[in-house]
Amino acid sequence: MRIADRIVEVRSAVQRARHNGSSVGLVPTMGALHAGHVSLIERAAAVDDFVVVSVFVNPTQFGPAEDFDAYPRRLQEDASIAAEHGAHLVFAPAVEEMYPVGASTFVEVGGLTANLCGAFRPGHFRGVTTVVSKLFNIVAPDRAYFGEKDYQQMLVIKGMVRDMHMPVEIVGCPTVREADGLAMSSRNAYLSAEERAAAPAIRAGLLAGAQIVSRGGSAAEAVQAAIAHIATQPLLKVQYLEAVDPETLARPNHNGPPMLLAAAVFAGDTRLIDNIAVED
Ligand code: AMP
Repeated sequence: MRIADRIVEVRSAVQRARHNGSSVGLVPTMGALHAGHVSLIERAAAVDDFVVVSVFVNPTQFGPAEDFDAYPRRLQEDASIAAEHGAHLVFAPAVEEMYPVGASTFVEVGGLTANLCGAFRPGHFRGVTTVVSKLFNIVAPDRAYFGEKDYQQMLVIKGMVRDMHMPVEIVGCPTVREADGLAMSSRNAYLSAEERAAAPAIRAGLLAGAQIVSRGGSAAEAVQAAIAHIATQPLLKVQYLEAVDPETLARPNHNGPPMLLAAAVFAGDTRLIDNIAVED
């Protein structure tokens, strides 16, 4: 497996693949790959002939008090996992490669970034859309694969692609979970044994809320039930838990589906997110 750390290397590898008639898929990640990432890589490998996995802990999407320095970095292991599951190239640039000296151009999506995680992580989505635009310009993929676990992120990227006429198809992939329902995340590694034992209540709470929505209940009732369930675990602190329209992320003015229940919950110092979409 080749690990490219330079943009020129990636461009020439992609050019060679295209010359041979290959379609190109991109899976952007921050590394510390787990089964959630693997599901994206496998999906990409099933659809596209040449699969690039990027591994880049992007500084511009972290707030000053967030975990940029502590974020797990294990590139060699990630490259083996990516290769094993069908990737052809890993792109792992240094920060200076992605942000040349003096870089002062950002890509920002309005509207969809205003609430949920956007309200609690100022600048986060601006960092995400900026780095993903860079990756799209470098790799020029036919398709890029994103997880529904980061539902708002996926929607924001889709909005960016639509608004900026980017010639890439965004493929959403279902959330991969541990056996007890906890959504897989690189940040799960931060959890103590007690926090890890409490964390599945996030999914269980969202499921309780989703059940109310599917029976025609209101957003307020669903939110109340979900928060009450999570509150049974004293180690968990809800940052937000909202029921929103799954397309606009605005407050719904209807009861019942379609509705998205989305939450950010602290388990100790670790911020975990999850969501459930209740379909029509
Ligand atoms: P990250 O490395 O956390 O930035 O995630 C990279 C990509 O993997 C994003 O598109 C995430 O939504 C996706 N992803 C992360 N965790 C999961 C999961 N448990 N199931 C499915 N996709 C995931």
